[in-house]
Amino acid sequence: MTRRLNAPYFGKRYVGDSETKILHDLDKEVSSCKVDSIPRTRIQMFEWISIPTDLLYKGCQFCMATFDASSPKKR
Ligand SMILES: [Zn+2]
Repeated sequence: MTRRLNAPYFGKRYVGDSETKILHDLDKEVSSCKVDSIPRTRIQMFEWISIPTDLLYKGCQFCMATFDASSPKKR
């Protein structure tokens, strides 16, 4: 899949769902991510490592399995 240049994505690489706290990497996105099913009101976009740890996002098991903001040692 690929990055979306249109709103609400604006070409950024990481898309988070503010309710499920799951973060996706649009450069590695697979169909199982279902990024397009995340309601716009819950979408939060991030660039690389500007992802705030206090939001406790977790990496998607399909595209960001090694990322866990709550466990920095596992990065
Ligand atoms: Zn994903």
